[in-house]
Order: sequence, then structure tokens, then C-alpha cells
Amino acid sequence: MSAGMDAGVVIVGAGQAGGRVALLLAQRGYPGPVTLVGAETLPPYERPPLSKEMLADPQHPLPLLVPAEEYERLGIALRLGRRVMAIDRARRRVMLDDGQSLPYGRLVLATGGQPRQLPFTLERLQVLRTVEDVRAIAARAEQAASVLVIGGGVIGLEVAATLRKRGLAVTVVEVGSRLLGRNFPEPVAAAIADRHAAEGVAVRTGVRVRAVSEDDAGLHATLSDGSTVGADFAVVGIGITPDTALAQECGLVTDDGVVVDADMRSSDPDILAVGDMAAIPGPDGRPMRCETWQNANVTAERAVATILGEAIPPGEAGWFWTDQYDLNVQLTGDTMIGDSGRLVEQRATVAGGRLYLMLDGGSRLVGAAAINAGRDMSVCRRLVAAGAALPAALLESDRFDARAARALLTPSPASVRPVDA
Ligand SMILES: Cc1cc2nc3c(=O)[nH]c(=O)nc-3n(C[C@H](O)[C@H](O)[C@H](O)COP(=O)(O)OP(=O)(O)OC[C@H]3O[C@@H](n4cnc5c(N)ncnc54)[C@H](O)[C@@H]3O)c2cc1C
Repeated sequence: MSAGMDAGVVIVGAGQAGGRVALLLAQRGYPGPVTLVGAETLPPYERPPLSKEMLADPQHPLPLLVPAEEYERLGIALRLGRRVMAIDRARRRVMLDDGQSLPYGRLVLATGGQPRQLPFTLERLQVLRTVEDVRAIAARAEQAASVLVIGGGVIGLEVAATLRKRGLAVTVVEVGSRLLGRNFPEPVAAAIADRHAAEGVAVRTGVRVRAVSEDDAGLHATLSDGSTVGADFAVVGIGITPDTALAQECGLVTDDGVVVDADMRSSDPDILAVGDMAAIPGPDGRPMRCETWQNANVTAERAVATILGEAIPPGEAGWFWTDQYDLNVQLTGDTMIGDSGRLVEQRATVAGGRLYLMLDGGSRLVGAAAINAGRDMSVCRRLVAAGAALPAALLESDRFDARAARALLTPSPASVRPVDA
């Protein structure tokens, strides 16, 4: 065993990223003890189904990463319902909320984030991050005829779509001038907005919630334009704040998230950070956080490779999806077109699907968005990762040519050089 391995790995946060770190370490034969400490009482579970399948049907099975028994079988010590309160870097120990402390050789921070709240504490205002939250929202929806969704981002719109399908009258209030303004290209956001409007959702953009009150009759919101919206309850989806308090208190470098290198090492090389709370090096080298399921898995893979001393897996293009009504929307790479970029819209190879290709100043594919075109998106993800330039014929067609696109990923015989060349 190398130095520190006898104290093993302690992972703080038993969510998507922390759970994957623990499982991968055990599955790949890490010889030291692996301890996963999680503030929630459930073993690690996936969050994407919360705003989709679980809100539609609270009886939907829990989306656990693996069955609970698997941790015991793999020799992972689960400390659930326990919060890490402090990190003592000098003594290499973490302090738990039950007064105990645990030694570590390597520490992995995977604490995710907390939903941002409005400055009002009201019973009828809900947020959505955990299984408990979704159960509370579903219980409210059971008794309600209407809901106000505050925030026209992904979580808010998924909640709006799911509750609309459950028959509630839905109003969405978004402070930005359009829905999904943070990372969706304009035509894709417009297609989603149109779909909500067609389903009867009232979408109000460019207005802020100024005040909210509640009484026996329901919840009353006053907006920045002076108008009021009434609903039985509200769901707030205005983003998350990364949970970096522990890291800050023990002196790690943070910049929105915990700053890590490509190996997921923080400013203390024995402390790694993964998932939503890690600020990884972005394309321009500056730290950036990424709040996606894929990023949780990719950063977990990287941290595990670092701990095991293995080669770091090659980079993938960032990828994200959302499901609203029967729209499956996927994004990869850089999806906000800058001044020099260009967006090409095409029919997908699947009937009814649309593809949006983002090009840099020339013909290099830097990002893509797909509406109901998952198969084409998987080619685009690989093209973006490869930094492929698209030939004019492919860009000029009004339909995506998946075969020609795939051919760009296969080296032609002429480009294969003999090893001794
Ligand atoms: C409703 C919803 C829908 C989503 N849908 C999609 C989607 O469709 N597509 C997509 O790509 N992404 C989606 N995401 C995002 C994705 O789920 C997250 O990016 C992912 O869960 C991040 O994983 P994480 O492990 O970093 O954080 P989390 O999963 O949040 O886990 C962090 C865990 O750490 C625990 N913790 C915090 N502090 C401590 C402490 N001091 N001690 C112990 N434990 C602690 C927390 O309780 C939590 O359980 C969705 C997220 C939500 C909330």
C-alpha cells in the first residue's frame, strides 16, 4: 500500500458524483478502505428523473445508482444521514455531525449544491433538489389546481411540463428576456417556449417576482411590472449555489466552485473535488462549473484514475439533455453562438427531429443541439470532441447527413501512417 492508502479514501457527499467515485474505486480494486458520507438518508440516486418520471408518478421506483446491498458487497462503508462539518487538513481527518472523526489518505469532495432560494420563507414555496422535495411537490400537486413556477430554466420548465401534464394550470415567470437564456440557442429555446404555450402554460418573461405572500386561499406573487399572479403553490427553480463551505473553511482555493486541475486535484493535492461543486479547467483554461449528469460521471472517472494512478480518460464533449412533453432536447459543446460563430439548422435523420449545428468562425463544429434527434446527437458529440471541420456539402444540405458525418470520424486509409514513418 502506498502512503495514505491505509487511511483510504473518504468521499463527502453521496450523490451522483460521490456515489460513482465510491463504486468505481471498489470495482477497480482500490485496496484501501472507501467511506462514503452523505447528508441524505438514501443511498446515492440519480436526480434527472425527479423532475420528470418521479414528479409525474410518485410511485416511480427510486432511481438508485445501484441497489443498496451493492455497497456492502463491494466493501464500501456508507455513512448516510451524516454530515461532514469540518476538514482538518493538518491531521488529515474529517469531523462528522455525530462528534466522530474519520481519517483519510485522499479526500474527495462531492457536495453538489443547494437550490437558490427567494428571500421569503413560506410554506407554499418549494424547491426541487432531493427525493424529499419531489415528494413534497407531488403531494402539493395532488391537492392543487394551479402552480406558479419561478424561473424559466431547465428545472423550472421540466416541472412546468410535468405538472401541466398532471392537469394543473401553470404560470412560468422568468426574469430574463427569454426562456433558457443561459445555455440554449435561441431557436431551440423558442421551440420549447412554443410547445409550453401550445400546452396552455402562461409564460411571462422579462419580469421578476418582487413579493410573495400566502394565506388560506393560496399564494400571491407581485411581479416587477406591478401585476399579480395567484396559484395554490409555487416551485422555485432559479439555480444552485455550489456547496463549497467546507472547502473554504479549510483554505482550499475556490472560484465559484472548488478549483481543480484536469486530474480533479484541488489546491491540496490530497483533496479532490468532483461534480456540480468542482470548478474544472474550461476550454479557455479558466475554472468553470458544470451542472450535468455527464459531468458528475466524467469528473468521478477522472478522480478515480488519479487516485489509482491510472491514465486520465480522454476528454468528452460536454453533454446535457432535458425532457419536456414529448420533446427530448440534447445539447453538446458550446451552444451559445458568439459574434463570429454561425448556426446551421437542419432536419434530423429521424422524422420530425431538428438539429442545430454551431460552427466557429469557419467550419469547425463547436457545439450542437438536437430536438428529438438523439441518434444524430451521438455523432455530433463525437464530432465536437474531435474538433471536426464539416465539409460545405454537409452544411449546405437541409437534412443532416449522418453517414457523411460519421465518415469524418473514421480515419481514411491515406491518413493512416505506418508506425515507423
Ligand atoms: C431535478 C433535477 C433534474 C435534473 N435533470 C438533469 C437532466 O435531465 N440532465 C442532466 O444532465 N442533469 C440533470 N440534473 C443535474 C444532475 O442531476 C446534477 O448535475 C448531479 O446530480 C450532480 O451530482 P453531484 O454528485 O455533484 O451533486 P448531488 O447529486 O447534489 O450530490 C451532492 C450530495 O452531497 C451531500 N452533501 C452536501 N454537503 C455535505 C456534507 N457536508 N456532508 C455530507 N454530505 C453532504 C448532499 O446532501 C447531496 O446528497 C438534474 C438535477 C436536478 C436537481
